[in-house]
Amino acid sequence: MNKKTSLTLIYFIVAFIVLIFLERYFLTQQTLQISYSEFKSLVKEGLVNNLIISKEYIEGKFVNGGVEKIISLRNIKEEKEKSFIKSSKTFYTIRVEDPDLIRELSDRNITYSGKQEVTWVKTLLSWIIPIAIFIAFWSFILKKMGTPGEGLMAVGKSKAKVYIEGETNVSFKDVAGVDEAKEELKEIIEFLKTPQKFLKLGGKIPKGILLVGPPGTGKTLLARAVAGEAGVPFLSLSGSAFVEMFVGVGAARVRDLFQQAEKLAPCIIFIDEIDALGKVRGLSPVSGVDEREQTLAQLLSEMDGFDTKKGVIIMAATNRPEIIDPALLRPGRFDRHVLVDRPDIKGREEIFRVHASKVKLGQDVDLKALAAMTPGMVGADIANIVNEAALLAARKGKQFVGMEDFEEAIERAIAGLEKKSRVINKKEKEIVAFHECGHAIVAASLPNADPVRRISIIPRGISALGYTIQLPTEDRYLLTKSELLDRLAVLLGGRCAEEIIFGEVSTGAQNDLERATDIAKKMVKNYGMSENLGPLSLEQSRMMFLENPWEKKGDYSEDTAKIIDEEVRRIIIESCDKAKKILNEKIDKLKIIAGLLIEKEIIEGEELKKLLES
Ligand code: ADP
Ligand code: MG
Ligand code: ZN
Repeated sequence: MNKKTSLTLIYFIVAFIVLIFLERYFLTQQTLQISYSEFKSLVKEGLVNNLIISKEYIEGKFVNGGVEKIISLRNIKEEKEKSFIKSSKTFYTIRVEDPDLIRELSDRNITYSGKQEVTWVKTLLSWIIPIAIFIAFWSFILKKMGTPGEGLMAVGKSKAKVYIEGETNVSFKDVAGVDEAKEELKEIIEFLKTPQKFLKLGGKIPKGILLVGPPGTGKTLLARAVAGEAGVPFLSLSGSAFVEMFVGVGAARVRDLFQQAEKLAPCIIFIDEIDALGKVRGLSPVSGVDEREQTLAQLLSEMDGFDTKKGVIIMAATNRPEIIDPALLRPGRFDRHVLVDRPDIKGREEIFRVHASKVKLGQDVDLKALAAMTPGMVGADIANIVNEAALLAARKGKQFVGMEDFEEAIERAIAGLEKKSRVINKKEKEIVAFHECGHAIVAASLPNADPVRRISIIPRGISALGYTIQLPTEDRYLLTKSELLDRLAVLLGGRCAEEIIFGEVSTGAQNDLERATDIAKKMVKNYGMSENLGPLSLEQSRMMFLENPWEKKGDYSEDTAKIIDEEVRRIIIESCDKAKKILNEKIDKLKIIAGLLIEKEIIEGEELKKLLES
């Protein structure tokens, strides 16, 4: 609870108690309550005067002897009580229906008057106090809302906090196995070190940099390392924290963040898990959408209004780039993307080295062997393994962390990761290697296929165990028939390689087949690329919003449908044969390259070219 508000609250409670006390004490202390019969006997003897008669009660003053009369009426013996009664000068009694009273009073010359019901104390008690309490309560509530993060807003703020680090104390040395990403970020560091100098030379600096990569590959670490290398403050917050907050708070936070950044420049703003914030709008109609949109809109407008010249670099990280709102990726926003991929075997060895330097290593520890034992693992996994190994060694009372501790830790990690299906066994690795080489060799051998940039068998995402990247990676708008056919052969090359080498196929080719079938269908139905059917479009391109997207409409006969199916099948089979022919011709190369891939996990395009030419 806020100190200030709790104090105000205490003031109010104290004031309230004091008032009650005042009323009770001051106004009644000297006033004796008497019964109506007592009152009547006092009236008969003329022992009261100055009566005030209200609807419910009668107040008045005792005349000399009045109190004594009460004492005798009540037959009081105790001195203490007597003196208490004697000290009272006024009395009051509850009024009883008594039509004769006024006449009796007149007879005895007792003055009396009516009474206006409310006194100021009453007014105070019945009106001002409740209002005061109400106001106090509301100001208390409003204060809670105004300063999110305490009390009511604790859920929101505790995570949406902007962390400001003057010095991150992380350098590039602490981030291993991501040399390409580091290379791309060097320019940013240069800029942050001396923005003026950089701008004088006419360098153009990107405003926003998006770090993309699977979880645990060191994106957050890398961002902090950039700040550390440049020696600038690091302002960070997490995108996911906004989603839980009340509407409007996130936007205010973003505004604050940019204001602070301006004061601290040169510095880095880092938004972690930006996908939570910049999810494609309208993707999920669940809660938090409004808040997210407002926050996102604020972020976009802040970014647009921000000038790199001020020396502020905005970085963000995500492991799901595909769901990010395209508005965030437009030029002038997060237009520079840096891939932070899973480390290869060499990278893992380096990461082991970084983390192992913090523990006492036994003589028998072979970091290279450890790297070979952990395919598919990322920096965070390795950090955990080293930590676990150190704990195991400590439990055994050892002075050093030995190889067996590492092996045990790796086994545990693998058991944990296998549940998440991210680790592949030796046989699988072999199949994946041949499969990917199949794609790559077919691609490299066909004139109209995009050149291969890299083959990797480092698992990526949930489904893809390996991948072959071809250049260009962006979408093409116009493709010729021969390009499409070559593309089909490349897609089928993976499956064909498995068939040739192992005599059977695995489930790994499912995605390839889907994509191949899709292309073949489009060739026949949309592009009119089948000789047997001629240049007909047999499917209207669907209009997303007007029609039910699941209902594919085609206005052709059953017979045509049959021919379409046949044509699609023919195209696929011919492409498959083409791929097989290439692979059978180069089977020696296939075996060599696959063997190398199993060992190194990654083969770059250049290397593949050399291997194929040799
Ligand atoms: P991400 O943000 O990509 O999910 P983090 O940067 O949070 O990953 O990484 C979590 C931890 O894992 C880091 O604090 C670090 O200890 C370790 N780690 C991850 N990647 C690397 C790396 N490339 N080199 C060294 N340590 C790493
Ligand atoms: Mg992170
Ligand atoms: Zn494949």
